[in-house]
Parts: sequence; C-alpha cells; structure tokens
Amino acid sequence: MDLALTDVQEAVRDTARRAARELLAPEAARNDAEERFPDQTLRALARLGLMGINVPGEFGGAEAGAVAYAVAVRELAQGCAGTTVALMVTNMVAETIARFGSEAQKRRYLPSICGGEWPAASFCLSEPGAGSDASALTTTATRDGDHYILNGTKAWITSGGHAGLYLIMARTEPGRSSKGISTFLVEAGTPGLTATRPEDKLGLRASHTTQIVLEDCRVPVENRLGDEGIGFRVAMTALDGGRIGVSAQALGIATAALNTAARYATERRQFGAPIASTQAVQWMLADSATELEAGRLMCLRAASLKEKGQPHSREAAMSKVFCTEAANEICHRAVQIHGGYGYTREYPVERHLRDVRVTRIYEGTSEVQRIVIAREILKQWQ
Ligand SMILES: Cc1cc2nc3c(=O)[nH]c(=O)nc-3n(C[C@H](O)[C@H](O)[C@H](O)COP(=O)(O)OP(=O)(O)OC[C@H]3O[C@@H](n4cnc5c(N)ncnc54)[C@H](O)[C@@H]3O)c2cc1C
Repeated sequence: MDLALTDVQEAVRDTARRAARELLAPEAARNDAEERFPDQTLRALARLGLMGINVPGEFGGAEAGAVAYAVAVRELAQGCAGTTVALMVTNMVAETIARFGSEAQKRRYLPSICGGEWPAASFCLSEPGAGSDASALTTTATRDGDHYILNGTKAWITSGGHAGLYLIMARTEPGRSSKGISTFLVEAGTPGLTATRPEDKLGLRASHTTQIVLEDCRVPVENRLGDEGIGFRVAMTALDGGRIGVSAQALGIATAALNTAARYATERRQFGAPIASTQAVQWMLADSATELEAGRLMCLRAASLKEKGQPHSREAAMSKVFCTEAANEICHRAVQIHGGYGYTREYPVERHLRDVRVTRIYEGTSEVQRIVIAREILKQWQ
C-alpha cells in the first residue's frame, strides 16, 4: 500500500478540511444543543463535490475513490460528527445505486444526490426487531402488477424525514431467509411513507434518526434495485464500505478531542506548572496519538483494498472495531485531561464523547465486527 496520498486525494482532503473548519465547526455546538438538522450545510457540501465522492463523474460524482472518501470523512468529522453521518449515509446510498442500479436509476437519482438537490438520502435496513440480525427483517414488498406494495417499520433511519430518497430493504419472499430480501428506491413524498419524530439521542444530535413507517406504499417495479432476492447482498456490500466510513468518522472525532486536550494541557496550570508537564497527562496524549496513527493506517488499508476492487470485509471490520474502540478511549482521556471542565458544555470534549459512543454500535456493533473477523479466520480451517 502506497502511504502517500495522490494529488486528487489531497485535493479532496483539503476541500473537506476547509469545509470542516469554515462550515461545520462553527455550527456544531448549536446543532447539538438545538438538535438542528444542517440541511443547508449538507447542500453546500454537495456543491463542493463531497456527496458521491466515490461515484462516477458521468452521474455527477467526484470519482475520487474510496481512499479519498475515508480521508474526507476523517476531516469532516473533526468539524461536526452529526453533519458528517448524514453525509456518510448519503454517500453510501449513492455508491450502492452506482454499483447495483440500472442505467435509468443512475441517471434519475445520482445527479440529484451528488448535486445536493436533496440534502440527504437514507439507508433503511434496521427494524425494531431486526438490528444485528438484519436478515430477520419483516417489512414486506408484495408484487401487485407493475408495482410492489411495501408494509412495515424501519428503525434508526439516519436523515429520516429530510432525505429525498430512501433505499429500503424489504422481504419479497416469506420466511427468514436472507435470500428473500430485495431493495427498493422510494422517493420522499410517496404516499404511504412517513417518518416519525426523531429519537432523543445521547449524541449526534444534528443528525435526525427516525422510524420510517410504510403503509401500503406503492413502488413501481422499475424502482427495485437489482434482481429480486439480492437485497441482503446489496446491504452487506454497502455496509462493508460504510464501516470504513465509520472508522474514519471515529478517527475524526477522536482527533478533534486529542487536539483540544493537548491545547488545554498546555494552558491549564496546577501545582505551579502546566498539567502538560506531568507524565500522567503526557502518556495519555502519547497513547491517544499512537492509537490514532494505527487506526489511520488500518482505515486506509481497508479503503485501499476496496478501491482496488479486492475483498475487504475482514479489513473493514478490523478497522471499525479498532478505530471506534480506540476513539472512545481517546475521547474519555480528553475529558479526563480537562478535569471538571471537561464535564461541561464549556469545552467540546463532552460532545465528542457523546458523539463517538455510537460508532461502536451502528453499521454493525463491535461484537458483530468480531463475528465477521472470526468467521474469516475460521474459514481457512473448516
Ligand atoms: C444513531 C443511530 C443511527 C443509525 N442509523 C441507521 C441507518 O441509517 N440505517 C439503518 O438501517 N440502521 C441504522 N442504525 C441501526 C444500527 O445499525 C443498529 O442499532 C445496530 O445494528 C445494532 O442493532 P440493535 O440496535 O437492534 O441492537 P441489537 O442487535 O439488539 O444488539 C444489542 C446488543 O446485543 C449484542 N449482540 C446481538 N447479537 C449478538 C451476537 N450474535 N453475538 C454477540 N453479541 C450480539 C450487540 O452487539 C449489542 O451489544 C442506527 C443506529 C443508531 C443508534
């Protein structure tokens, strides 16, 4: 793996870095406090080419690749992690359409997503009774002539109520088999699709997370993404890439926390000297920086394999479990270095700690990542 970024990757990184500093960071505390969904900021990010980073140029994407995407997410998450998750899910939906969609679907939906006509797109796999065991989903899609009729409830949907397009996994064959699941593209405003009130979350409060209720929602057959029965494969392929994004997001949040903690340690004086002069604080900073560097390499390696079209499930799962668990620890240390002040809203580290917590949960919990990794190891011996 070449560790140097290409000119294109550097350009995407610099654009994201500027956007994080100038657009996201100034509004992050307010978004969090007021649970404000940043639709205008998301549209601005699209205009900068940051929606559809890994989508072909002919459909309005930046065509910059999976490494550029990971690098951009890490930068953006340093500005506002809540805004960044809406961007991540939108990129994941766009990539999924680019990979599995028909020519007509790509032409119809990708320019709108990549160009910011809609602030976001949503990925609807989870249900109230089907989280880690996503293949147990019970939302149905029943064929009725030229349409499917969708019924069921999707849970935890990022950007629910704001998205212009919903990518929905539903069962086209009864039973529990993962082979009976198909994927549908449903536009906002389609009768029978409604979003509930956003969940009252611990963190990522700029990102609205809702249920999506489907009641006799009629979807034209041409809005099915790929063949009937491949929906679970579509979802797992999307999540392999999504986990690289979550790794990068966790690294970004932890980088912001470490930077704030290092600055604070040089300013805060106790016992007549800056607390940065104590070995205890220095070791916390050193451990955090070391873990960030290891995580960065794992994340880039998984992204690089994806970019080359090589298998990357194992590497994406390893990257997610390492980066998100390290990032949680780094944010805890940042609060510790701030002492009591870290426990207040005066400093951003309490928000970083709340925001980073979910990275161990969504797009597959840490436990599920370990299952994926162990399965890959054991494959060789069975
Ligand atoms: C803020 C937020 C945003 C989200 N956004 C989306 C979205 O946009 N689209 C979407 O489809 N979903 C989304 N999700 C859902 C998310 O992916 C799920 O929450 C996650 O997959 C876990 O499912 P669950 O919450 O049902 O937990 P459960 O599956 O009920 O798990 C509960 C606990 O049991 C453990 N566990 C379960 N099974 C096993 C096992 N076999 N072995 C070991 N441990 C196990 C889990 O690791 C966890 O610790 C989001 C969730 C959150 C919180």
